[in-house]
Amino acid sequence: MTHHNGSDDSLPDYDDLEWNTPMYRLAVEQLDGTAERMNLDPNVWQRLRTPQRAHVVSFPFRRDDYDTVETVFGYRVQHLLTMGPTKGGIRYDIDVDLGEVTALAIWMTWKCAIMAIPFGGAKGGVRIDPARLSQSERQRITRRYTSEIIEVIGPDRDIPAPDLGTDALTMAWIMDTYSQHKGHAVPGVVTGKPIEIGGSHGRAQATGRGVVACAIEAAKLIGLGLDGAKVAVQGFGEVGATAAQLASDRGAKIVALSDVSGGIYADSGLDMTAVNAWMLEHRTLQGFPGADAVTNAELLELRCDVLIPAAIQNQISETNAPKLQCRLLVEGANGPTNVAADAILADRDILVVPDILANAGGVTVSYFEWVQGLQQFFWSEEEVNRKLIDLMQAAYKSVEHLASEQDVTLRTAALMRGIGRIKQAKHVRGVFP
Ligand code: NAD
Repeated sequence: MTHHNGSDDSLPDYDDLEWNTPMYRLAVEQLDGTAERMNLDPNVWQRLRTPQRAHVVSFPFRRDDYDTVETVFGYRVQHLLTMGPTKGGIRYDIDVDLGEVTALAIWMTWKCAIMAIPFGGAKGGVRIDPARLSQSERQRITRRYTSEIIEVIGPDRDIPAPDLGTDALTMAWIMDTYSQHKGHAVPGVVTGKPIEIGGSHGRAQATGRGVVACAIEAAKLIGLGLDGAKVAVQGFGEVGATAAQLASDRGAKIVALSDVSGGIYADSGLDMTAVNAWMLEHRTLQGFPGADAVTNAELLELRCDVLIPAAIQNQISETNAPKLQCRLLVEGANGPTNVAADAILADRDILVVPDILANAGGVTVSYFEWVQGLQQFFWSEEEVNRKLIDLMQAAYKSVEHLASEQDVTLRTAALMRGIGRIKQAKHVRGVFP
């Protein structure tokens, strides 16, 4: 399909587009490989390679010293408006750019379609170091960013949620800012918000819970039980900490953990109660007694059964994929593995549960939150967790079945499932005008 890479003058040269960064190219390479494999209608294929809407804003941000005013960049990208409102997290990170946010929006589209949730993909971000924000600075930047993107979000339009560097409180400030502008409370504008203002039970743990549900199912495929398995987790935030805790509750031995400051390793297993107590007091894993210090890069290459990257993208490439010693890789983070690494891992018989399936628990409970808000009828935590596990297991099994039927990896099968559903929706809606 030469015309997709711009070699045909009548089509846009994708290499020149504003969002063309390594992360965007990863999302598009995954799409292209799958589209080719499934013989996708080229009209749909071409539409799916670029976002439908991409907003870039810059705004002034006053630091606590009052004198310093920085110009900060923010983004909100809506990839696909075919399926319903768009949905996706907001991240605060110093490396955020239009390409990264676009790639994440594309992955959100696949995720929602795989889970059969009536949303298209979106993502937002602010290019700022969250570690350098005081609580009042964090609140000011959130409120200003929200007012800059206020026209494009809304409960029927585009619904943000937490991601890297943001949390439930961030969502509360977005909801409050949006509601102040509209003149009445609009809880449905965000998900992942605190319970007090219409959040859902189980949302904060949902992504980690889904990761572990996938790990349990995938482990069966390779004759592994989670009980007694050695698990290494990169990232100890909302996703990583929950995944580690739930895996440990299932009898797994958590041999390594990390955060942005580095990692800790104990082959005999880390005491999760002690780790959690240490984190509460020190806010970093660094210095945790009774464990060896490892770097984030070293953690990935440790001997273990299950590796869960749950921090940031671009962690597993052709350089370290040959050195990974796990049997199962479950992607909690978005975009941790590149295309070259995928091929190496497949060759080495390391089973990969892809991000668009493994971490879809977050958007699933976000969807539950949106539904509960619309009905003004809220579910118990048990009910949320049960419904989440049911959907995750069904999605995992359907992808595993497709993978074996088509003789492809779980990633390709997951993409085929998501893209296939979108293709059908696009065909029945037709092209306007
Ligand atoms: P978080 O901010 O709660 O936690 C991130 C963790 O990663 C922290 O422990 C942090 O110290 C660590 N980290 C940050 N930068 C790092 C670096 N450069 N190297 C190593 N570690 C680093 O974020 P989160 O919500 O847990 O998200 C983690 C990943 O999961 C992201 O890729 C995110 O897109 C993805 N994800 C999150 C959700 C969700 O519901 N929160 C859903 C789907 C996917």
